[in-house]
Amino acid sequence: MVSILKCDNYDFELLKDTIKKSFENLGGIERYINKGETVLLKVNLVMKKPPEMAATSNPEFTGALASILSEYGAKVIIGDSPGGPFSPMLLKSIYNVCEMDKAAKMGNAELNFNTEHIVCEFPDGKVLKKITAGAYIKNCDKIISVCRLKTHCMTKMTGAVKNMFGTIPGTTKAEYHFNCPDVNNFADCLIDICLNANPVLSFMDAIVGMEGEGPTAGKPRKIGAIIASENPFHVDFVAAKIINTEAETIPVLKNSIDRGLCPNNIEEIEMIGDNYKDFIITDYDVPKTKSMHFLGGKPPKFLEGFVDRHIQPRPDFDYKKCIGCGDCARNCPAKTIEMKNHKPFVHTSKCIRCYCCQELCPKEAVSVYRPLILRIMSKL
Ligand code: SF4
Ligand code: SF4
Repeated sequence: MVSILKCDNYDFELLKDTIKKSFENLGGIERYINKGETVLLKVNLVMKKPPEMAATSNPEFTGALASILSEYGAKVIIGDSPGGPFSPMLLKSIYNVCEMDKAAKMGNAELNFNTEHIVCEFPDGKVLKKITAGAYIKNCDKIISVCRLKTHCMTKMTGAVKNMFGTIPGTTKAEYHFNCPDVNNFADCLIDICLNANPVLSFMDAIVGMEGEGPTAGKPRKIGAIIASENPFHVDFVAAKIINTEAETIPVLKNSIDRGLCPNNIEEIEMIGDNYKDFIITDYDVPKTKSMHFLGGKPPKFLEGFVDRHIQPRPDFDYKKCIGCGDCARNCPAKTIEMKNHKPFVHTSKCIRCYCCQELCPKEAVSVYRPLILRIMSKL
């Protein structure tokens, strides 16, 4: 069951009313949470950005959800492992800029500062049998995924499923990117991580989403809805419909369908609330093919140089915006960015096209360059 409800803005009382109705639509809070339980709101704090940029979870949205759960009798913790190092000091500063401290006050919740790692055995994983996660995901009884509808340069869209990648601590995320450079393989990795975290509910803020160069450098786009479900795959499927994108073209959804976790037909998803069709945005700016495997595999050796230069998309640096902080080089999973005279240069032959450099650049100095041949091919 997926609840979809109109919600036009971030007025705290409106949010509380709409989120309460979402719970009612899904059978009531008591169906998912027992009084006295500790609930982790796994927000999305991908990087230090203020709420109006729409890159991170909205503080009023998070605060309203926390407030409902606290009033119900749960203990609420707000947490995420953003990109970059996972340390209490950096968490404090990111909570402050993303206004999660305000959300915690509004919702009578605590902020997580536990940065310990644990290793979870996950024998049912398709690609991951062991998952290194932040210990904070096991120091609670239930997890709720609190995501925002955003585009993503590598995975096309990020929502309830990919939000759980933030359960992987800090720079360990780079290892997962590096070990799964193929976007389809990485999508399976994201699905395994989501299944391991096992959120009891997912709440998607589709009031204002992000379009274009997401997940951090895109533009806010008003949509006006809150989507909620116990099934994160269904939430993402409905979100894909709203941004007018075929689920089959979004690697996480395609693989979820292949793995029997999600139907390939919206008619098979039970929905309650408003009609999802009323929220569809036909001109939502969704990134085109940016995967390294658009040709269906690696090119022959003799073509590698040509493909690399003239067909593959690649990160492109705007040196006027770049302040030479080196965050891109430090967080590049393939260690293929070299800082020369405080400016980054990519050795593209080793680049795995994960776009962590773009995601974590504080100055939006990284974009995705798509060579002419690729642009023509993606129109075919
Ligand atoms: S992260 Fe951005 S600002 Fe920092 S060095 Fe890289 S491109 Fe420049
Ligand atoms: S250069 Fe950027 S896109 Fe390429 S591997 Fe490094 S972080 Fe990923």
